[in-house]
Amino acid sequence: MRSTDTVRQRFLRTLAPVFVCLLTASILLALDTPKPPDVEPPAARAETPAVLVFSRTTGFRHGSIPAGIKSLTELGREHGFRVEATEDPRFFEPTRLGKTDCVVFLNTTGDVLDDEQQRHFENFIRGGGGYVGVHSAADTEYDWPWYGRLVGAWFKTHPAIQPARINVEDRTFPATRMLPATWDRTDEWYVYRKNPRPNVRVLMSLDETSYQGGGMDGDHPISWYHDYDGGRAFYTGGGHTDASYAEPLFREHLAGAIKWAAGMTPHPPRKPAVPTDAVPGDATPDKGATR
Ligand SMILES: [Zn+2]
Repeated sequence: MRSTDTVRQRFLRTLAPVFVCLLTASILLALDTPKPPDVEPPAARAETPAVLVFSRTTGFRHGSIPAGIKSLTELGREHGFRVEATEDPRFFEPTRLGKTDCVVFLNTTGDVLDDEQQRHFENFIRGGGGYVGVHSAADTEYDWPWYGRLVGAWFKTHPAIQPARINVEDRTFPATRMLPATWDRTDEWYVYRKNPRPNVRVLMSLDETSYQGGGMDGDHPISWYHDYDGGRAFYTGGGHTDASYAEPLFREHLAGAIKWAAGMTPHPPRKPAVPTDAVPGDATPDKGATR
């Protein structure tokens, strides 16, 4: 018995370092194993949100469109959403839109979708989709009233590119949280056909005394959002110039907007910047409010 024990003990003593080595190796191996790719992006959701950037033009074409696409693609990598850019209106069909969380109208102009594509896009928003309109997204689809209400206001005219002061009225929203209370920047400042304030939640407005050619009687919203027809809609008037897309704050403004519209950032603050005329439960588009 004794001799057997001794043999067994000696055997175990000899093997012990081997076990330790094996254990260490397996721990090291486990630590060294590359993480599955779905853990790598900073996205909070299991699936990376998909953003479609649409920049078709049938009217004026902004030279800044490539800079805009590049910037949004980079922002997607930084913020965890996937960007696909297209000028092809055939993307507006149920299968592709069904895999999309947010559609950005990046400096679109004119009549960009046919009737059927318009219907598919309306269904996308009604199904909870997100919309972000940039600059001449307001110079788009004048004969589609539903779109006019979605974007919030249509373009009328603009003065020359110049610096202006922006009052950031609501700094709790994902697209404005990072901005100073007054934001000085240079862009082409649109005049809109109608003040959108009664129908949307205004985030920023231009100080018309800070530049030439304001054109909206002193109340000049330049960025806003609203819940619209089952989905989320955001618009910003900036983004005419190439330089806009290199401005860190303008980029973060866009990224915040996309993350909200794509459903990545929780719905805006409890304490709402509710306009006094907003009727609770008013989810259906108001008839006759064509702009
Ligand atoms: Zn422009």
